[in-house]
Amino acid sequence: MTNTCETIQRTLVLLKPDAVNRGLVGEILHRFERVGMKIVGLKMVWPTEETALKHYTEDLAIRRGEHVRKLMVEMLVSGPIVAIALEGIEAIELVRKMVGGTEPKAAAPGTIRGDYAHVSFKHADARQVGVLNLIHASSNEDDARQELEVWFDASELLEFDPHYVKQTIV
Ligand code: UDP
Ligand code: MG
Repeated sequence: MTNTCETIQRTLVLLKPDAVNRGLVGEILHRFERVGMKIVGLKMVWPTEETALKHYTEDLAIRRGEHVRKLMVEMLVSGPIVAIALEGIEAIELVRKMVGGTEPKAAAPGTIRGDYAHVSFKHADARQVGVLNLIHASSNEDDARQELEVWFDASELLEFDPHYVKQTIV
C-alpha cells in the first residue's frame, strides 16, 4: 500500500524585494492559504550576501550564466524579503504552478507572476538588470530541502495540526 505521507511536501517561497516594495505580501500569501496550504514557517529578513549566495547557488550560474547569478544576489540583498515555508500535498509542484513561468511577460494569467508583473527578458537584458518577477519557489525536492535550510533553523519550522488548534479555541 502506498504511504500517503510521501505526498505531503514542504517547499520554500521567497517574496523578493520587489514584492515587498509593491505591498504584495498579503495578497500573495493569501493565494497560498486560499488553496489550503499550511504556512509552517514565516519571517521577514534583509538578506546578507552570504545567505543570498547560498540561495542562488552555482547551479543558477550554470543554467543562466554567472551574470544572472550576480544580478540575483544584488537583487536579494537590496531590501527586505519574506521567507515562507509551505506544507501541502505535492506542494513543490503546486506552488510552482501557482507562481508561473520565470518571465512575467510569458507567465500565464492567473499565476502570481502573470497577474502582478509583466516585464520581459528582452527588457531586463537591455537594461542589464535581473528579471523582477516577485517570487521564488523551490523547483524540486532536493532544492526545497537545501533552500529551507538556508532560510530557516529547524526550530523555526513548526509541526502542528490545524484542526486541533480550532478545537482548543472553541
Ligand atoms: N533571471 C533573470 N534573467 C534570466 C533568467 C533568470 O534575471 O535570464 C532571474 C529571475 O528573477 C529568476 C531567477 O533569476 O526568478 C532564478 O532563475 P530560475 O531559472 O531559477 O527561474 P525560477 O525558478 O525563479 O522561475
Ligand atoms: Mg529556480
